[in-house]
Amino acid sequence: GQCSQVCPVGAIAERNEVIEVLKQLDSKRKVVVVSTAPAIRVALAENFNVEPDFDFTPKMVAGLKKLGFDYVFDTNFSADLTIMEEGTELITRLNEGGKFPMFTSCCPGWINMVEKSYPELRDNLSSCKSPQQMIGAVIKTYFAKQLNLNPEDIIHVSVMPCTAKKGEAKRPEFVRKGSDGKDVPDIDYVITTRELLTLLKLKKINPSELKDAKFDSPLGIGSSAGNLFGVTGGVMEAAVRTAQIITGVENPIPLGELKAIRGLDGIKAANVPLKTKDGKDVSVRAAVVSGGANIQKFLEKIKNKELEFDFVEMMMCPGGCINGGGQPKSADPKVVLNKMQRMYTMDNQASLRLSHENPEIKEIYEKFLHEPNGHLSHELLHTHYNDRSKKIQDMSLHQK
Ligand code: SF4
Repeated sequence: GQCSQVCPVGAIAERNEVIEVLKQLDSKRKVVVVSTAPAIRVALAENFNVEPDFDFTPKMVAGLKKLGFDYVFDTNFSADLTIMEEGTELITRLNEGGKFPMFTSCCPGWINMVEKSYPELRDNLSSCKSPQQMIGAVIKTYFAKQLNLNPEDIIHVSVMPCTAKKGEAKRPEFVRKGSDGKDVPDIDYVITTRELLTLLKLKKINPSELKDAKFDSPLGIGSSAGNLFGVTGGVMEAAVRTAQIITGVENPIPLGELKAIRGLDGIKAANVPLKTKDGKDVSVRAAVVSGGANIQKFLEKIKNKELEFDFVEMMMCPGGCINGGGQPKSADPKVVLNKMQRMYTMDNQASLRLSHENPEIKEIYEKFLHEPNGHLSHELLHTHYNDRSKKIQDMSLHQK
């Protein structure tokens, strides 16, 4: 993966949190919750060398339960939540105006790049928090409430393919007040896929030998659209699926047929039909970019008006999170392709392939959030971005 090279914040924040997580699991003083990103399950499947069409997810969940986590939740759930919020944001911008192109905001490597090098693009970013931070916020509010706990009674461990996610979790925006008025982070620890493998090794657990287990409710169901967040083009594909249906497009692109934005190319594009609220057909120009160098090249072309787009997915790692800096290292380039293929296979095999059809997503809006982009959503699921370019200039002046 590229992240540790391109993202100094992520690299600095990277430290081995395995020991701290072990301590929390052993002490049993707090409820210890874990959530896992889409790219983890396919990395474990590769690591444990299982058949290409074998879904390793139930084994991964079994391994996490055996490690002693009290609740195992799925970041695919909050990927679906992101689609609800970000899809609504896109449709609102199309109907009421706003900055275009709109950029996705789930990759902290990309967010760091905007804040440091392209601060003028901050209003183009979706205001949505990343799926990691969304599930963090709902675990310490919605879920805490269901268990009658205060946010400080829960320890939340996030398993990520990404070193930049450690830095993201430490942002001052992502803390809330505990019952005693002290700051409580939404995410307590971020461990990488490699660190999860270390934990399993230390405890002598081989998940492939365990009996299948299921994620817990109420944050354990994820659609295969949400699962596609792990691969370049997946956020776009998931967003298009839901936005086409919600806006009432007559002939939506069939599931799995948006092939122009699949595969490992660094810059991909497609035109997507959507409908405005007054029933007008619009063609949304969508682009998908992965890899830091491709992002820079793409932004130059946007600046020079050589290219024009409406909605753009940006991922810092070439190929997306399956190739993240926290994944097991492999010298075999085929491994990334295998992980990508596993995600498409999981999507083909899934019965739930649309974010807005996820029953737990329906439930959280009914019981708690009420509506996408509503008041509580804005408080819990959206964020703002800072201009950090000046700080960097000052620092370089200092060094001279
Ligand atoms: Fe992290 Fe994924 Fe972004 Fe890479 S592409 S920096 S793994 S969020």
